[in-house]
Amino acid sequence: MKELKRLAIIAHDNKKAEMVSWAMRNKSALSKFSLCGTGTTSKLVAEATGLEVHGYLSGPLGGDQQIGAKIAEGEIDGVIFFWDPLQAQPHDPDVKALLRIAVVYDIPIATNKATADYVISSRLIKE
Ligand code: PGA
Repeated sequence: MKELKRLAIIAHDNKKAEMVSWAMRNKSALSKFSLCGTGTTSKLVAEATGLEVHGYLSGPLGGDQQIGAKIAEGEIDGVIFFWDPLQAQPHDPDVKALLRIAVVYDIPIATNKATADYVISSRLIKE
C-alpha cells in the first residue's frame, strides 16, 4: 500500500474560520493525506470535514514546537499555516522557529490561502 503524505495544519485564532472553510473546500484533496495539526485547529477541521486529524498540543502550549520537531525528524511533508499578520501572538518565538525549520528542511509551507491552493493542487505534493 502506498504511504500517505503527511500534512500539518495550523491556524491562529483570527484565521481559524478561513482554515475551516479552506479545508472544507479541499476536503477531497485533504483526504489523500495523513493529517495532523495544532490542538484547536485540528479539532475544528476534523469536526467540519469528518477527516481524521491527529492533534498535537495547542499552539501557545507547544504545538508549533511539536510540529517543528516532526519536520526535523522527517515526518512531515508539508504545512498549511495560516498565521495572523495583524496580531501579536504570545508564542511568536515558536511561530518563527516553525517557519525557520520548514525552510531548513525545504518543506512546503503555505502561509496564506492563495499559496495553500497552489500547494494542495500541485502534482509535486502528490509525488
Ligand atoms: P491552536 O494553535 O490550533 O491550538 O489554536 C494554533 C496556534 O495558535 O499556533
